Amino acid sequence: MTRYSPATSFNPTILIVEDEKTIRDLVSQFLRGEGYQVVAVSDGNQAIEVINNLDENTQIDLIVLDLMLPGLNGIDICQFLRRQGNDVPILMLSAKGREADRVLGLEMGADDYLVKPFGLPELRARCRALLRRTQVAIPESDLEETVEFGDIIIYPQQYRVTIKGEEISLSRKEFALLSLFIQNPRRVFSRDLLIDRVWGADFMGDTKTVDVHIRWLRSKIEADPSHPVYLLTVRGFGYRFG
Ligand code: CA
Repeated sequence: MTRYSPATSFNPTILIVEDEKTIRDLVSQFLRGEGYQVVAVSDGNQAIEVINNLDENTQIDLIVLDLMLPGLNGIDICQFLRRQGNDVPILMLSAKGREADRVLGLEMGADDYLVKPFGLPELRARCRALLRRTQVAIPESDLEETVEFGDIIIYPQQYRVTIKGEEISLSRKEFALLSLFIQNPRRVFSRDLLIDRVWGADFMGDTKTVDVHIRWLRSKIEADPSHPVYLLTVRGFGYRFG
């Protein structure tokens, strides 16, 4: 399983997947000029090939992914990566500005969504925000040996979670959410506060992202995700734990 680890290199590497040559070239050139290392491909199969063939010393820190592609499209690629447990940040590009496509993109695992035509400064801002967010760790002061609630045990320093002794695999965001909840049992968190604490104040997406991640987290920690016992919805306000 490919686990994404936060960017540590000085020049993060961005993978651009875009079939329209003019946009691919423009975006590549622009981001290179911004100091990023850029790998650009023109379809989904090549994108998967690049990701599957990374060696020990190379990693992709961000994917700028077009939605409409020949062969595997942007949604397929998102789903493929997330099912692999790969939580590299994904910025989805699309000419479609309809809410339904935006939500679908986010539900399928994109972290943010940019509608074409977009300005290069906005692209830069979103790339920066996504790269910054992936480097946000849990505050030192919150680190304890273990944190427990019911059958769930979190090992913060090791980024491990067990339920009834069985290790479960969480994405970085899911882990951050669960850590926040478990350290604040029964406290009600609004979606905005969760965005602020887990995604960061500069997050430009919307609060639906929270609901999507809560759903994923429930599917991993709840015996019956449609009748959660840990992660509860507080109607009209947000979520609480326990
Ligand atoms: Ca396209």
